[in-house]
Amino acid sequence: MAQDDPRRLIPRTDQLMGLPAVRRARERLSEEVVRSLVRETQERARRGELAPDQVEPAVLGALAARSASTLTPVLNATGVVVHTNLGRAPLSAAATEALVAAAGYVDVELDLRTGTRSRRGAGARAALLTACPPAEDALAVNNGAAALVLATTALAAGREVVISRGELVEIGAGFRLPELIESTGARLREVGTTNRTHLRDYAEAIGPETGCLLKVHPSNFRVEGFTSGVGAEQLRPLARAHGVPLVADLGSGLLTPDPYLPEEPDAASALAGGADLVIASGDKLLGGPQAGLLLGRAEVVARLAGHPLARAVRADKLALAALEATLAGGPTPVVQALHADPDRLRARAERLAAAVGAPVVPHDGRVGGGGAPGVPLPGWAVRLPEAAAAPLRAGRPAVLPRVHDHACLLDLRCVPEPDDDRLLAAVRTALTALDGTDDGTGGTR
Ligand SMILES: *Cc1c(COP(=O)(O)O)cnc(C)c1O
Repeated sequence: MAQDDPRRLIPRTDQLMGLPAVRRARERLSEEVVRSLVRETQERARRGELAPDQVEPAVLGALAARSASTLTPVLNATGVVVHTNLGRAPLSAAATEALVAAAGYVDVELDLRTGTRSRRGAGARAALLTACPPAEDALAVNNGAAALVLATTALAAGREVVISRGELVEIGAGFRLPELIESTGARLREVGTTNRTHLRDYAEAIGPETGCLLKVHPSNFRVEGFTSGVGAEQLRPLARAHGVPLVADLGSGLLTPDPYLPEEPDAASALAGGADLVIASGDKLLGGPQAGLLLGRAEVVARLAGHPLARAVRADKLALAALEATLAGGPTPVVQALHADPDRLRARAERLAAAVGAPVVPHDGRVGGGGAPGVPLPGWAVRLPEAAAAPLRAGRPAVLPRVHDHACLLDLRCVPEPDDDRLLAAVRTALTALDGTDDGTGGTR
């Protein structure tokens, strides 16, 4: 390197690592993370992207922006309530508090009165039974898929799961329920056709090889026209006569009916209607943490809980804490977003729109998460030029809009109202970034 090469002036690693602000950052970030940020910044200076005297401020800026997790909180302006790519249900304040409290040592498997071991997750179990009175017992596992694996393994491995051809569904991202069930060693005994299945189809299939009857809620599609299915109520006498359990995978996770979602099945009705066991997710409509819920007859839940696989799919203490608090706490963000008052949504959208000179257009939100397909949630959106979407996503806070029909739409349904001002600031920043570039879309501002 020549004597006058400015790269000679790039601060050395030990110099940068010794800066007081960098030393402080090393208390919240690992040595490796800090070192790699320092190295990356030096590299930028070596490539000439940064002047040597800018290295130190750039390192400090990068450290300030870096947290230990790279997961970035996002304002969900899509109008999709249970957004799979955004981690499904946002937790309630009560659930968040419980989760943080459970992060340390916690009595998840201990009776503090006697000092002896207790049943794991007793609080979550009690909350589930309170929220779903027809259930005699309940078990929470890792997720809905794990619940289905545990149920089919414990009840039907090496035997048959009788299921309608109209219920052999793919839930999302290539997740096919029939493949999951077969992976347990249970054999599928398909009955009926895609559009129609009758009670006699089940009656002809059931026999000594039957491990369980399985009903699966199709979740993310609807079959219309010449269709017929067999409900749990009709199947119950058949299942009872043969002494085989009737399992219903409901997917969505409603424990009791929601008048806003009349088509969505719920655990209490399914159990009252004849199912011996229901399966549901914790982080869809229930609005809680990722979990798989198994509710039903005591004897069936006990078979599952006693199976060796139960240990491999058990819920962790954080999920158990958040699940109990979701059930015992106030309305969840999912419920609030589903039931949001359209007039209030409109007033909020108009305020944001007026502040940035954009129009408000009618916009339907969605339940999402493979629930209530085709059910619109009428509301409003602020319409921005399509090119605003990228700077919104890249901003802080990150904002996910809906890009549709060459527009960037901001639906406030899933944005907590106290975040409206942060959203406005993010929109202003994104639009300013756009003004610097000619997006060529003509825009609507
Ligand atoms: C979502 C869903 C599952 C899977 O649940 P996860 O919690 O995503 O594992 C299983 N069955 C049905 C019917 C579903 O809708």
